[in-house]
Amino acid sequence: AKDSGRGHYQFFTPDMSQRAFDALHMESQLREAIAGEQFVLHYQPQLSLADGRLVGLEALVRWQHPQRGLIGPDAFVPFAEARGLIAGIGRWVLCEACRQLKAWFGAGWPMVPVAVNLSAIEFRQPSLVQDITEILAAAGLAPQYLEIELTESVLMDPGGFALGTLSKLKALGVGLAIDDFGTGYSSLAYLKRYPIDKLKIDRSFVCDIPGDGDDVAITTAIVQMAHSLKLLTVAEGVETPEQRALLQSLGCDEYQGYLIARPMDTAALQAWMAQRSDN
Ligand code: C2E
Ligand code: CA
Ligand code: CA
Ligand code: CA
Repeated sequence: AKDSGRGHYQFFTPDMSQRAFDALHMESQLREAIAGEQFVLHYQPQLSLADGRLVGLEALVRWQHPQRGLIGPDAFVPFAEARGLIAGIGRWVLCEACRQLKAWFGAGWPMVPVAVNLSAIEFRQPSLVQDITEILAAAGLAPQYLEIELTESVLMDPGGFALGTLSKLKALGVGLAIDDFGTGYSSLAYLKRYPIDKLKIDRSFVCDIPGDGDDVAITTAIVQMAHSLKLLTVAEGVETPEQRALLQSLGCDEYQGYLIARPMDTAALQAWMAQRSDN
């Protein structure tokens, strides 16, 4: 674009150079964060809708910034993906989640899996299956206690790479869940073809039930279809007893959300677990 005219200067407004500086700054700080392991995992419990027992823990990453405090994943995961830095973070997340779960098992906690979120970019790394195999071995954790959460974008793969990776993970014994189900563009045919264990019904459908008839219809359809395909269903973002009651009546298998607990650091989770086993 030689003759872009005024547009040419738009790249050099003070605002834009400030933003470019911020991005540079952010990138170098994220590199430091990865090298210095400035991350922490918070864990959100997942309960059975049938009997309320603990069925899993989802690990959610936060950046413990030395000056800015705790930063949520939405503020740095997409940036890390764009700059090719997500692999370093993802590796730390997997190692830490497996190490921590193994330690909790040693302390007598319930033997439930930990669910780890993987971005599409991490999923496409050729070394993924080997990396996960090694991480599990190093932690001394059986593969059945690790569940990988993937978004539908991963399934959209005409090249067949996704099927190969999913099959290898499945053969290893790792659990496979589709996150934010219903918000992406995946064809339902993929669900039949891929060795998926669970669908996580996106919070956007859950938040307006039971009041919104369309969302009730969608949630009902997802649960029924999942069960026909022998997949488990997990409802995300459950905040009210009314939402839980409806999901229960639909036969949804599991739920997580603020109604149970917010994602907690290890100290808060320990207190939550202790108070649960008290009653
Ligand atoms: P997600 O996997 O869909 O995680 C659920 C998000 O909803 C979490 O936000 C959680 O704190 C929040 N949440 C849970 N229950 C409720 C509820 O009842 N109501 C409401 N309003 N929100 C609820 P968080 O921790 O900020 O994570 C945001 C996203 O960042 C995650 O969405 C996931 O896509 C991504 N993410 C988190 N940890 C990792 C990670 O280790 N690796 C990668 N690649 N992505 C991650
Ligand atoms: Ca998730
Ligand atoms: Ca989700
Ligand atoms: Ca999400």
